[in-house]
Amino acid sequence: MTDASAGLSAAGPNVARPLPGPPAAAALLADAAARAARLESSPHLSIVRLGDDPASVSYVRGKDRKAREVGLQSTVYALPETTSQAELLALVARLNADHTVNGILVQLPLPAHVSEQAVLHAIDPRKDVDGFHPVNVGELWAGRPVLAPCTPAGIMYMLGHYSIPVAGARAVIVGRSHIVGRPLAAMLLNAHATVTIAHSRTPDLGAVTREADLLFAAVGRAHLITPEMVRPGATVVDVGINRIVGADGKGHLTGDVHPDVAAVAGALTPVPGGVGPLTIAQLLANTVTAAETQAVARSSG
Ligand code: NAP
Repeated sequence: MTDASAGLSAAGPNVARPLPGPPAAAALLADAAARAARLESSPHLSIVRLGDDPASVSYVRGKDRKAREVGLQSTVYALPETTSQAELLALVARLNADHTVNGILVQLPLPAHVSEQAVLHAIDPRKDVDGFHPVNVGELWAGRPVLAPCTPAGIMYMLGHYSIPVAGARAVIVGRSHIVGRPLAAMLLNAHATVTIAHSRTPDLGAVTREADLLFAAVGRAHLITPEMVRPGATVVDVGINRIVGADGKGHLTGDVHPDVAAVAGALTPVPGGVGPLTIAQLLANTVTAAETQAVARSSG
């Protein structure tokens, strides 16, 4: 895709308050590190990846590095692409049984010969730091979240960090994926927002998004959300990460929200530098939460 407006605002002055991710992520990490320091041993995250997909290699490297930076233990299992489902399940069973491991993350996507569902369901829900196990999904929808998916949980933390009111707000989420849209809807509902989820079959998307005090775009379509689709003063959270070619002929990362939305919105997360850093910070916070819960269970059982 070519887009001359990549990273630029053509609609005049930028009125939206920027909501940068790094300060919120730093606060979440500092809190996680302080909680980790109060535990008897430092929380231990095990990360499993199959194959050499460059994006997965880079995500896993980032998670491992950040975990060590904040004083957590991290072990990466880099397995060959040809690893069978049975071998992967055997490793997950070993990590489940190992009481020195507090959190288990299997990096997605997995190769086609391995069932993601079988693997995610095999992880002990108490160590499921991605929050994808059906027990944790159910707990979240029941309003009793313990380990919840990292990107939406990080977004909720960010809203709190910037004192954006959620209770009573009308929230619209565009996108209904299992990793972002659906869990975010549950979290907003638990925080007393009135929630609508829109998706590719939603007619007149703009009429729906214009209702939002809080608008979340988690689609993966560059600049889908244009200024006319945004209620003036709304808080807009851009989860999308899209690679486009700018007018300079170079590749840029951009969000699902058109830059001109900055002239209409009350607050806006940038891309890059918005929601992104919250995901890893929340993963490490979840690892500390898992370690705390396991320590309490051990001391009381
Ligand atoms: P996904 O699984 O592909 O889901 C996309 C959702 O968008 C689907 O529900 C789809 O509707 C909906 N959609 C597609 N086209 C639409 C349209 N024209 N109008 C309205 N809805 C439309 O994506 P995802 O995994 O949630 O990721 C979404 C974006 O967030 C991607 O850019 C991804 O890279 C980014 N992301 C960022 C982070 C981060 O840390 N910042 C983390 C995760 C994801 P249907 O269900 O009807 O198909």
